[in-house]
Amino acid sequence: MNVMPILCKRCEKNNDPIISPLPWSPETAAEIKTQICSQCWSEWEEQAIIVINELSLKLFMSEHQQKLEAHMREFLQNNPLENGENPENLPQGPSPVKS
Ligand SMILES: [Zn+2]
Repeated sequence: MNVMPILCKRCEKNNDPIISPLPWSPETAAEIKTQICSQCWSEWEEQAIIVINELSLKLFMSEHQQKLEAHMREFLQNNPLENGENPENLPQGPSPVKS
């Protein structure tokens, strides 16, 4: 099965889409899946654990879910570039982390 890459709004790269189900309302999940790649999503999942711990969020409470969602949106939209204002595509150098 071919998976079409999506243009991720966060990292602005063509990347693998998120395939796993998301723990959000269908509207929010659909929005994320059309805009965010799986790589950025896994970064958020790590961040979410930190946020949940720091704020002691109880995710069965809708109020706390909304707080987490606000953090999520902020995290996923940390690159507010408008379309058409993109700089030249940066060449992807070799990863600096190599042992
Ligand atoms: Zn991305």
